[in-house]
Amino acid sequence: MTGSHLKALAALQSKTPVLIALYDQHDRLRFANPAFRAAYHVGPDESPTWEEIMRRNHAAGQGTILKSEDIDAWIASTLHRRGKVPFRAMETDLHDGRWLWMTETVDADGCMLCIAVDVTTIHAEERELRQDRDFALRAAQVDELTSVPNRRYTMGRLTEFIANCAENPHMWGCVAIIDIDYFKAINDRHGHQRGDEVLLDFARQMQEFVRRSDCFGRIGGEEFMLILPDTTISEGHRILDRLLERVRNSRPLENIPEFFYTCSVGVAEYRDGDTVSDLYARADQALYLAKRDGRDQVRRHTLPGSDQEVHPDQAP
Ligand code: GH3
Ligand code: MG
Ligand code: MG
Repeated sequence: MTGSHLKALAALQSKTPVLIALYDQHDRLRFANPAFRAAYHVGPDESPTWEEIMRRNHAAGQGTILKSEDIDAWIASTLHRRGKVPFRAMETDLHDGRWLWMTETVDADGCMLCIAVDVTTIHAEERELRQDRDFALRAAQVDELTSVPNRRYTMGRLTEFIANCAENPHMWGCVAIIDIDYFKAINDRHGHQRGDEVLLDFARQMQEFVRRSDCFGRIGGEEFMLILPDTTISEGHRILDRLLERVRNSRPLENIPEFFYTCSVGVAEYRDGDTVSDLYARADQALYLAKRDGRDQVRRHTLPGSDQEVHPDQAP
């Protein structure tokens, strides 16, 4: 591109009504054209995070119209699915009456390009139908209780992760299965509702540990999965140790201030030729050892011959 074309590009991006923004891998706004800044009320020198933009606009009754009353749950749920696929598009209503077709394109480092165009005048009559469809699609991906990705969505991400590793020799990573300890006893002692509060607390504690490139979801009653691309098993182990500490220190039940809970983790690393069930089974075997050896700990699946080996005949 020549200098004059660059100049034209710079001038046009500032004139176009199309919204253009770039978020970095920490979801902080690094570039936004005037149309984007105007729609979301971001000053010319500000670079807030996506979450800050959403909270700020919600509080002021401007920007995106949320389909949920509960901003915390909406943010949590959206963050868990935001930037996880290379491209997605959705329709968004703004409080100013505009209706946008919003696209998100994500690179391997987690940088996200957002481009949105005004489609207010296009096929208004089918709009409700499309929004219902988007709502149903979301419902099919999200766990109703905790608002984190559900089993179907998480297993889809795991399948993708394995396909990426298989195709690309520079891709690796690990997978953790996290299971809350003695959860049945928590339900029996304090009631099912308190049990649900513990699950909600766990999902909340987890939020801070999940990077843009990770995927976290609920895969069973009190069982969760964390997919950690670009992470060695030792790094994964350290991250999960910190999570266990955080969970141990949480006091989620208001009426029972001394109540606490723990969880156990099995973690396994991708290996060449793995299928979804191979990797899942190894993480599950490691989880079994964590439970067997007293719970509230991380165990990793390592190859026979190393210091922490797991033999197939030790598996449940
Ligand atoms: P361990 O330490 O070995 O994991 O023992 P545990 O008691 O956690 O495991 P177990 O599999 O025996 O019990 C899991 C319990 O989780 C049984 C089930 O009733 C409960 N559960 C599953 N889904 C939910 C839920 O959505 N809410 C509540 N409150 N309880 C649930
Ligand atoms: Mg359990
Ligand atoms: Mg379980």
